[in-house]
Amino acid sequence: MTPIIAIDGFSSTGKSTIAKGLAKKLQLIYIDSGAMYRAITLFALQNGLIDNGKIQTEKLVAALPKIRIAFTFNAKTQKSETLLNGEQVEDQIRQPHVAAVVSEVSAIPEVRRFLVEQQRALGERGGLVMDGRDIGTVVFPKADVKIFTTASEEIRVERRWTELQQKGEKISKEAVRENLLHRDHIDATRKDSPLIKADDAVELDNTNLTLEAQLEWAVRLVLERMGQTVSLL
Ligand code: C5P
Repeated sequence: MTPIIAIDGFSSTGKSTIAKGLAKKLQLIYIDSGAMYRAITLFALQNGLIDNGKIQTEKLVAALPKIRIAFTFNAKTQKSETLLNGEQVEDQIRQPHVAAVVSEVSAIPEVRRFLVEQQRALGERGGLVMDGRDIGTVVFPKADVKIFTTASEEIRVERRWTELQQKGEKISKEAVRENLLHRDHIDATRKDSPLIKADDAVELDNTNLTLEAQLEWAVRLVLERMGQTVSLL
């Protein structure tokens, strides 16, 4: 059995941590759909299609066929890396200047169509965990398991700030908070596939949960839904 597991939620609510852990435990492929939106945003920035926060939408849409996004597994770091037209951009797409405009780029319907098609193709054979904002509602409405993550604002800011500190980014907690709330607002209010919890998604509030506890909970949920057909390795 090759389940499709959809994990959605607001920014920095621990989606990718649980998604990666689940994928490793159940030997499934992990796809970070946010990285795909970030890669398109980086492309737009690199090609002068965003000036002072203003996106040249028509030009970006026309350039979409030239954008190739892929993932590769780095055996040394044991981490998945994002490739934009063959170039490894994993760190670049996490930088604050990309985060500052990614939600505006993600609100463009043509960008969403372009990526949703690729995300569905990746899931054709099942056996994957994908995290994002519209995975359980739009990309895989028939996913076997849907999880919607939440966490307190304080813990979300703390997590994202620590992550950026570790990467050497100098940014204040207030700036991190502003960016998270800004993205939340745009992601939840955009016209095309806004972030909402799917009716059949199970909520996971991980504010006070260790990663182990979350994983145990998620693995149990998957096994229950799949009727024990997923072997725990
Ligand atoms: O998950 P991450 O925070 O890296 O996503 C970056 C941005 O990409 C989000 O704030 C959102 O605007 C967009 N996104 C989206 N749909 C997805 C995944 C991400 O609109 N499925």
